[in-house]
Amino acid sequence: MTLNPLANPKGVKLVCELCQKPAFIQCTDCRVTYYCGVEHQKADWLGIHEKICQALVYIRTAIPFINSEEERQKRKKQLLEKQREMIDLTRTTGQKLLFEGKHEQAVPAAMQSLRFAIEVHGLASIELVPSYLILGEASIGLGRLSQAEEYLSQAQWTVLKTPECSDAIKSKLYRNLGLLYAAKGEYEEALRAIADDIYHASMMFGTDDIRTSGGYFHKANVFFRQNKMDVADSLYKRVTDIWYDHLEKIVKVRTKTPVAPKGVGLVVTEINQEPEVGLDEAQEAEAKQVLGAIYDIREQQQPSADVMAQACHALSMLLFILHDAGKAKEITKKAVALKESLSENEVTKSVLEFNTYLDRIDVY
Ligand SMILES: [Zn+2]
Ligand SMILES: [Zn+2]
Repeated sequence: MTLNPLANPKGVKLVCELCQKPAFIQCTDCRVTYYCGVEHQKADWLGIHEKICQALVYIRTAIPFINSEEERQKRKKQLLEKQREMIDLTRTTGQKLLFEGKHEQAVPAAMQSLRFAIEVHGLASIELVPSYLILGEASIGLGRLSQAEEYLSQAQWTVLKTPECSDAIKSKLYRNLGLLYAAKGEYEEALRAIADDIYHASMMFGTDDIRTSGGYFHKANVFFRQNKMDVADSLYKRVTDIWYDHLEKIVKVRTKTPVAPKGVGLVVTEINQEPEVGLDEAQEAEAKQVLGAIYDIREQQQPSADVMAQACHALSMLLFILHDAGKAKEITKKAVALKESLSENEVTKSVLEFNTYLDRIDVY
């Protein structure tokens, strides 16, 4: 990424990718993206452009001569495919940055996802809503509440106009409204919105899915802020249970030792026969945020050994999945240290087995 003073082609008004003001510099890698200045170029690069720079060359470069109708249709189809891919990529990136608490950085990714969504689906489509929600959540994180309100009411308006809107989108909309009310200190409103979030997420994914657990987590946070610790605690426990089950499935697949059938010199892995379980980038970031926060709260509270051990184990499994076996081992040891006070249950068994496994593998 270097700077290039812009030779403005005649008659074409070039605007900044981020703020839409007149542009004076160009990305010299793709040569199809322009900026008002270095600051916005840098922000866009860090937020999203690095990941999409090359794809934009394909998307934004017009092919001057296409001979046949067949070729034109082919190009159109490929372009659409690429744009859809970009919608997914930019949204996952924006969502991931939000979970990491990088609200400012999430904005370029969200703006870009909105732009792609408008190109593919038009201005009034429900497909734009996820982008508005990321922008809304970023604004809440940045304390720009009236801007957040604008994005969210745009999203809400579109949802109301779309009877076939999915429960997944409705859940996300209400979750964001809940965050907005909570940020304004309107806790009753917040809890009402989060209840709607949980309802729609449960309809779509079931009550104990990781995609529903975010609602319980935010609800717990509202009670936590109101100092209603009993309710908050049991909700944090529920969130931990859900992530725990999900992560344990992934760990089981990853730690399974391939078994060689008797008398055969071959090693046959059974790993591929397991149903696909995993985490996308945004879910990884969400798990880190949620389980990290709960772990910190538990450390402060000094709860029962069982509750503490489960919080440790959930976090250490996550770290292991994220290829940080050293840290996973460190946290697992904390759970193992509680051994004398732990009940005889599945979690305890799993902690001890995992500890043995981590001791066996070379973690550094
Ligand atoms: Zn700008
Ligand atoms: Zn570029």
